[in-house]
Amino acid sequence: MQRILITGGAGFLGSHLCDYFLDKGHEVICMDNLLTGDLNNIKHINSSRFQFVEHNVTKYIDVKGRLDYVLHFASPASPIDYLELPIQTLKVGSLGTHNALGLAKDKKAVFLLASTSEVYGDPLVHPQKEGYWGNVNPIGPRGVYDEAKRFAEAITMAYHYYHKVETRIVRIFNTFGPRMRTDDGRAIPNFFCQAVKGEDLTVFGDGSQTRSFCYYTDLIDGIYGLLMSKENQPVNIGNPEEMTLISIAKKIVSVTKSSSKITFKPLPVDDPRTRQPDITKAKEIFNWFPKVSLDQGLKNTLEYFKSRV
Ligand code: UDP
Repeated sequence: MQRILITGGAGFLGSHLCDYFLDKGHEVICMDNLLTGDLNNIKHINSSRFQFVEHNVTKYIDVKGRLDYVLHFASPASPIDYLELPIQTLKVGSLGTHNALGLAKDKKAVFLLASTSEVYGDPLVHPQKEGYWGNVNPIGPRGVYDEAKRFAEAITMAYHYYHKVETRIVRIFNTFGPRMRTDDGRAIPNFFCQAVKGEDLTVFGDGSQTRSFCYYTDLIDGIYGLLMSKENQPVNIGNPEEMTLISIAKKIVSVTKSSSKITFKPLPVDDPRTRQPDITKAKEIFNWFPKVSLDQGLKNTLEYFKSRV
């Protein structure tokens, strides 16, 4: 049995990771300050191998006993969250990552950083390979998240090279599924909630910008594959099936059998035009590729949003 600390463990992905490692028979410490996380995401867990610790990881992290893995998922992660919480976002990506790395070093644990496709900014290379350095506006509204995660990657590599910490960096592309907050402002929760309520779907800009959406079970499998590999360099995990925002809005109208129409709103500042992961590396190193189609994933997610609206 391994002992795993998951920071941000009450969030969307963090809570699914808690379930995943508990199902594998491990012991999980879920740490969250509940800024954007939610106890409802973990209230179903009833296991003596699980404990929740309410703590802000920008402050010193004290964990008693051994740790085998530290998975650092704490951070506001949706554009409206990090626009509303810019300082907290910068602090958790910098101070929080420093503390989580210090803990991993002390415990001789493997450290995994939840990084993001946002490190590529508004990419000028398509699809995005891990070797691409990105096109980020450091002082734009998204800069607080993008630069915090870029710093987090830098300090993770520094701890690997200088302190010999076993580290992993996963660059997570757009992911969806149950436990996303209905008010996190992202495209998929907004579209689902609007369609279920019969309201107009708000497409930003002309809807020609693209994203590639991954179902959460595939993403969690990819994170596990990376964790178990020996790869210290960043690895993209996401679904390369790319589409325009207008087509995903139409798909959600159809999946929900809604009579909602589509309306257009201004495109947010620095909203990336395109995004598609090149997942060759994950496939080559640990034979990972997504298995759940977008249509299947949307069908699976519908019941969740229906129950939340
Ligand atoms: N978007 C949209 N309508 C919404 C919410 C988002 O058209 O109600 C667009 C947003 O401008 C972006 C894309 O959907 O182009 C994905 O946005 P999201 O917030 O889901 O994540 P991002 O990929 O920007 O981090």
